[in-house]
Amino acid sequence: MKRGVVISIIIILIAALFSVCNYAPQVPVLTPAPTVTPSQTPVITLPPTVAPTATPTIEYKSVVNPNQPYSYELMMEDCIELQAMYGDLIQLDSIGKSVEGRDLVLIKLGKGKIKIVLAGTHHAREYITTSFLMETVDEYARAYVTTGNYNGYDIKSLLDSVTLYIVPMVNPDGVNLVLYGPDATKNPDKVRSMRMLKDSYSEWKANINGVDLNRQYPCYWEEKASNTDVPSSEMYKGTAPATEPEVQAMIRLCNENDFALAASFHSKGEVIYWADSGTVDSIQAGGSMAESLAEVTGYKLMGVSQDPAVYGAGFENWFRQEFLRPAFCVELTPVGNGSTPHDDSRFDELVWQKANRLVAVIMQLAIDSK
Ligand SMILES: [Zn+2]
Repeated sequence: MKRGVVISIIIILIAALFSVCNYAPQVPVLTPAPTVTPSQTPVITLPPTVAPTATPTIEYKSVVNPNQPYSYELMMEDCIELQAMYGDLIQLDSIGKSVEGRDLVLIKLGKGKIKIVLAGTHHAREYITTSFLMETVDEYARAYVTTGNYNGYDIKSLLDSVTLYIVPMVNPDGVNLVLYGPDATKNPDKVRSMRMLKDSYSEWKANINGVDLNRQYPCYWEEKASNTDVPSSEMYKGTAPATEPEVQAMIRLCNENDFALAASFHSKGEVIYWADSGTVDSIQAGGSMAESLAEVTGYKLMGVSQDPAVYGAGFENWFRQEFLRPAFCVELTPVGNGSTPHDDSRFDELVWQKANRLVAVIMQLAIDSK
C-alpha cells in the first residue's frame, strides 16, 4: 500500500479508538497527529459542531465538599457558586439575621408549586446536617440539569413539581463558636460567663445567647422541662418562647409560606421522630410517610412522643401543632463518639450512604399527598 493510504488508515483507527474510549470530541481527536500531511486533511477535518468556536458546554462540577468542618463562610461561598451555576433552579434569600448579624440563608431549590421546608443545624455542634443539606442541593441540582435522575429517582420531575425551602444553618453563630472557639465570637467574655454543660466549646448546642433553639418554639413551651435556668451551652429554653431571632425567622418563614410538610435535621441517632400525642390523630398521613423515610434510610422510627415536657418547644413539634401537617425530626448519623462533632472526613459513611435519597422521597411523599 502507498504510504499515504497507510497513514490514513492509522489515523482512522486512532480516531475510532478515541471515540470508543468516549473521549470528549474536542480533545485528542481534534489535534492533528504529527505524521499527518496536508493532503490528508479530510480525515482530520473538524465537524462544525466541535469547532473551538462552537458554544461551550457548561461543565456541571461538584461544588460542595462535605468532608471538612463546614463553616458558615464555606456555606455562603458554596451557595453563591451553586446559584451562579444553576441559574433559576436555585434562588438565594435571607430569612433574617442571627444574634451576631449573620444572614440566615434560604436556598430555594426547584420550580414547583408544592413547597417543603427543610432546616439544618438548630444545634451548633450538629453542623454535619448543614453539610447534608448542601450536598443534597449540589447533587440534586446537577442531576436535574444532566441525566434528570438521581440514584433511581426522577429528580427532574420532582423538582418541577416541588420547591424546597432549605435553611441549611439555623444557628450560624453557634457553629462559629464550635469551630473557632469563644475568641472568634463578638463577645467572648459573655460566652465564657455562660454555664457549660459539657467540657468544651466544640460540644456547644445553643445559639450565642446560650439559648437552645430547639426548646424555643411556642408549642408547650411552658411545660417544656429544663435542667438549667441560665444561658448555657445547651438545654436552656430562654425566658419566653421565640425570644431568639433565629427562631423568630423560622416562624415567620413558615407563616408566610404554605408548606406541605417540614423536616428538621439533627445528628447522632439514625432515628426519625414523626408524631406527638397532641397532634398524631389530626395528621393522618404522617405515619405512612414516616415509614417510607425509615425504609429508604434504614433509620429507626420512634414511637409517638407522649409527654409535652419532653417533646414541647421543638421546631417540628411546633410545625405539627401550628399547621396540622406532617413534620419530621431526622437524626442523621450513628450514635456514639461522645458529643463532639463527627469526623467530617467520614461524611459518606456516616450520612450520605444512608440518607442520599431521603430528600427525594420527602418530595415524592409531598406530591403523592396532594
Ligand atoms: Zn440536635
